[in-house]
Amino acid sequence: MKFVDEFRDAAAVRALADHIGSIVTRPWTIMEVCGGQTHTIVRCGLDELLPREIALVHGPGCPVCVTPIEMIDMAIEIARRPGVILCSFGDMLRVPGSKGDLFDARAAGADVRIVYSPLDALAVARRETEREVVFFAVGFETTAPTTAMAVHQAARLGMTNFSVISAHVRVPPAIEAILSSPSNRVQGFLAAGHVCTVMGIDEYRPIVERCRVPIVVTGFEPVDLMQGVAMCLAQLEEGRAEVENQYARSVRADGNREARRLIEEVFVPADRRWRGMETLPQSGLALSRRYRDFDAIRRFAIALPDADEPQECRAGEVLRGLIKPPQCPAFGKACTPERPMGAPMVSSEGACAAYFRAGRFGAAEAR
Ligand code: SF4
Repeated sequence: MKFVDEFRDAAAVRALADHIGSIVTRPWTIMEVCGGQTHTIVRCGLDELLPREIALVHGPGCPVCVTPIEMIDMAIEIARRPGVILCSFGDMLRVPGSKGDLFDARAAGADVRIVYSPLDALAVARRETEREVVFFAVGFETTAPTTAMAVHQAARLGMTNFSVISAHVRVPPAIEAILSSPSNRVQGFLAAGHVCTVMGIDEYRPIVERCRVPIVVTGFEPVDLMQGVAMCLAQLEEGRAEVENQYARSVRADGNREARRLIEEVFVPADRRWRGMETLPQSGLALSRRYRDFDAIRRFAIALPDADEPQECRAGEVLRGLIKPPQCPAFGKACTPERPMGAPMVSSEGACAAYFRAGRFGAAEAR
């Protein structure tokens, strides 16, 4: 298939690994930001093909994983209200809150439904006009446009029984937070290609200039990722710090203007706590003043205190690239995909789930 097969070509991957080996002169640490990229790297063993000088670490790019516990608790609290139908993506139903997950709420009688799009949730609201339909929205700038479209349509149709818990988050503030942390060891980033397909690449330029760190917008197939590493490494070795675009077959410099316009109309940046991290300024997307009637937290007047991870779960360190999943003592023992202790073991984009599925259980696999 055009644009897929050639980016899964094993010989091309090996050739890129050889090229990377020929230009590296010293140790470097590079972070891929997206959970989809993490899964490709771990599933295909790309990190094991790289020379030992290059450490690939996994970033906070799984939106389900970074949704804070208190937002799960809010969704459960709203789902329990009489007359409410709570809709979300399947992964969200298994993410632990402080006292159980949305599946537990459903087992206890709450009407919690899995949907594949916010527009599906909107369709439920149009059918069930006597019920309050709430969409629990998660994701980076990639999924925000469809949530924005659902809210925009609900407003246009004059609907009063549809609202959204917006847990959408933005990538650039997360990169800035990682770079400004005293424990940071990341020297270059592979940015998520799909986010940049929507947002373009310009918002990374101030970070590159301020922090002198290369950022390479990268795709999701094995050849994409090896090319991204090679481009990032070339910058590091040459002392350059620029925004480069490996994923040019999908990403334009200014992104998708219509999707961006819709995001800017429906949402405003807001401070947001990330699971395992502190509150990051302007890192979330809250409903704008014009659409605030569709804000479920406001509509249901919910306010819950911040909640902490179980002490045994080291998701915060995993999400900041400080440890790899096999270095968590609970990995594969107390924490498995069947009995997850933390979100990175639940989500299809979570780093802990990626290592578990690839059978990478030992310290050697955590390089
Ligand atoms: S393996 Fe489980 S307990 Fe450990 S960090 Fe990952 S999700 Fe948390």
